[in-house]
Amino acid sequence: MGSRNKTYKLLLINPVSRRRQGLKSDRDSIYPPMALGIIAALTPLNWEVEILDENFTEFEYKDADLVGLTSLTATINRCYEIAGEFRKNKIPTVIGGIHASMMPQEASQYVDSVVVGEAESIWHELLHDFEKNSLKKYYHAKISSLVNAPSPDISLYNPGYKFGSVQTTRGCPMSCEFCSVHTFNGSKYRLRPVDKSVSDFISTDKDLVYIVDDNFVGYSKAARNHALAFFKGVAKGGVKKDWVGSASMNIAEDEELLEWAAKSGCKFIFLGIESELIDQLEKVNKQVNLKIGVDKYAEVYKKIHKYAISAMGAFIFGLENDTPETIYNRTSYMLDADIDIMQATILTPLPGTELYCRLLSEGRLLHTNYPDDWERYNFTEVVFKPAKMSPQEFQDAAYDNWERIYDLKTLRKKFLKTLQLTKNPTTAVWGINLNLQMRNFVFEGKKEMLDTESAFPGLLDGIKLR
Ligand code: SF4
Repeated sequence: MGSRNKTYKLLLINPVSRRRQGLKSDRDSIYPPMALGIIAALTPLNWEVEILDENFTEFEYKDADLVGLTSLTATINRCYEIAGEFRKNKIPTVIGGIHASMMPQEASQYVDSVVVGEAESIWHELLHDFEKNSLKKYYHAKISSLVNAPSPDISLYNPGYKFGSVQTTRGCPMSCEFCSVHTFNGSKYRLRPVDKSVSDFISTDKDLVYIVDDNFVGYSKAARNHALAFFKGVAKGGVKKDWVGSASMNIAEDEELLEWAAKSGCKFIFLGIESELIDQLEKVNKQVNLKIGVDKYAEVYKKIHKYAISAMGAFIFGLENDTPETIYNRTSYMLDADIDIMQATILTPLPGTELYCRLLSEGRLLHTNYPDDWERYNFTEVVFKPAKMSPQEFQDAAYDNWERIYDLKTLRKKFLKTLQLTKNPTTAVWGINLNLQMRNFVFEGKKEMLDTESAFPGLLDGIKLR
């Protein structure tokens, strides 16, 4: 970045839900707010830019000419609360991010301008309007090519983050019922130039990198070749960093990809498995898993392990037709299968998803006093009427099964199994750390937050990480 010559001050804020205030144990697992880093990089040099990140510093009012906030459903009430502090002082506020993009009318009641969609394409126009004192109420961003997408200004991130973040693609051609990625980022799978992503990876000042893509492997030959070129670029780039990211299960069909993912430092792959039952995958339109076939899931895990990478399986409780018994069976599957890191969350109808529209039209949403009730849409609380059990039976079943999944003896066994399957201590340590973070997430405020050392004293003694 060139040096900034202040004419205006832009304050970018990453709000954190008050529910999570005080939860210090998972801070290290999260990655810096990339959207704000990109906005900062796009802001002309006559602006001074600062990021105020509530993951590290609780908000305190400070002066600015313009305030930008990024929103998720889980953080939206905190966004509105902070925006209110600036509006009292007549400082213009702008909000972007997935929640505001899905609920622009709601957001416009709390801020001066709402950016709908990916902000890159309209950011200069918005700043120009600000300088003319004519901010619009809404800015509708276009889905644009990533060819000229800037790298985020990482110099503004809080140095306390352990992960750097890198993006290689955006968008998804699939349309799973519970997901809003295709609505927000578009159903065209867009590829960022490989050299830019490799350069971002190499230049991050962290040894751990989170690939923020919703699916870094994609479904086409072009997407596959793009991922391969990225892995090779990183592997040959002369830096040694561990990285993690999300991919669809079809990654296991391509051993060359897995081999280069491993050579470039991949330590675990997050797989959206959702369910082991075909009718449930059909109901949520999880086409890629149906194509792989539930009877082939075990082969997917095996192939991933062959390259010393661990498999993180994300499952959903509360899919259509779920009962306490099927949730129990799903948990048994997770415990018995060769899945190293287990995530099980409650089906949550986020705004902008087809699931939300369906449950709303069927009169099944339990909490619709918005925006206050968005706090409840946090993946651990039941917010809709299940078809085959009461909401309370569902909530109780979720807690009972989280007790089974995150039982410390079970996690210890998973650790030893990962060690045996991958023969890689670093991969196994990643696994146990992540399992404990998942445990902290579901039991937040209900159980003691644990890290590996306090939960398993001595377990990692003698394990040499690379
Ligand atoms: S869940 Fe994954 S595969 Fe499905 S639409 Fe979302 S990003 Fe695409």
